[in-house]
Amino acid sequence: MNYKYLFGPVPSRRFGMSLGVDLVPFKTCTFDCIYCECGKTTDLTVERKEYIQADLIIAELDDFLKSHPALDFITLTGSGEPTLNLGIGKIVKHLKRYFGGYRVAILTNGTLLDDDCLIDDINMADVIKVTLNAADDNTLCRINQPHGSVGIDGIMSGIRKLRANFKNEIWIELFVIPGINDTDVVLSRLKEELSKINPDVIHLNSLDRPGSFAGAVPASGEILGKVKKFLEPMPVKIISKVADNVNNDNGKSGFETDPEEAIVSIIKRRPSTADDIVMISSLPKDRILKLIAGLKEKNIIGEKIMERGIFYFVR
Ligand code: SF4
Repeated sequence: MNYKYLFGPVPSRRFGMSLGVDLVPFKTCTFDCIYCECGKTTDLTVERKEYIQADLIIAELDDFLKSHPALDFITLTGSGEPTLNLGIGKIVKHLKRYFGGYRVAILTNGTLLDDDCLIDDINMADVIKVTLNAADDNTLCRINQPHGSVGIDGIMSGIRKLRANFKNEIWIELFVIPGINDTDVVLSRLKEELSKINPDVIHLNSLDRPGSFAGAVPASGEILGKVKKFLEPMPVKIISKVADNVNNDNGKSGFETDPEEAIVSIIKRRPSTADDIVMISSLPKDRILKLIAGLKEKNIIGEKIMERGIFYFVR
C-alpha cells in the first residue's frame, strides 16, 4: 500500500522513533509561523472540518500497524494544524482501541483548544504538545502571524481548559526567536501564564531547519540557557539535536522497497540532512548520498546550507 497520509517512521527529538500522521492538506493552519519548516501557510483558517476523511487515514494506519512495527510514538501532526480536522477524535479513539500498545501524541499550536468538543475528542491521547511562544498578542503576531480571529486570551483560556480536563501529559514547546521572545518583558508574562498551566515539561526549541521567513534566526546555546534559567524552577529542557533521542530500531520502512520515494516522502514534510536520513533509514551514508545525488539530478529535490549542515527539500 502506498501511504498518502503517513510518513516515517522518523527520528524525532522528543518522540523517539515516531510515525507521523498528516491530518490536513498542505498547508492548512491557523498560524503562519515565521519558523515553519513546512513553508508558508496557503490556507489560513480556523474552520474545523474533515479536510481528509478520517476513514482514509484509519485505513492506512490499520495497514501499517498490522505488522506491529517498533515505534515510540504515533504523532498526529503534519503539514499544518491537526486539530482543524474534525475527524481527529475518531482517529485517536481508533488507535487507542485497536492499537493500545502505542503511545499517541498530538502536536498542536493550541489555537482551537477553547472548543469543548475538541478537548473531548483528544482526551484519550497520551501526550498533547502545545506550542506557546509568548503570552502577549504583539509577540504572538510577530512570530505566529495568526488568523485574524485568533488572540492570546483565547489560546490561554484553551490551554487552561485542557489542563483542567486532560489527565495525561501536557508538554509545552517554546520556540525561541532571538530579538523577539527572549526579552525579560516577554518572558516574564509567559512565565506567569505557564505557572498557572503547570505543564509536565517545557521544551525550548530553536530553528535548525530552513524556516519560512529569512528573518527567523537560530537561538545560540547561550540564549537558550538564559531562557531556561529565567523559567526555572519549572521543568525546562533544551531540546538536543535530532540524533540525541533516536531509537534506531525503526521497524518497517519504505526504504526496503523504494528508497528514493522514501527519501522524498520524508523531506516533503521536513527538510532533512543526509545524516538525518541515514538515521531514519539505517542505510549506509554513501548509499544515501548516491540516492540524494540522483534525486538532485532529476531536479526533484534542492538543497540549502544551514548551521547544522546541508538540508534537502522537495522542489
Ligand atoms: S509551525 Fe506549526 S503552527 Fe506554525 S505555521 Fe507551521 S504548521 Fe502551523
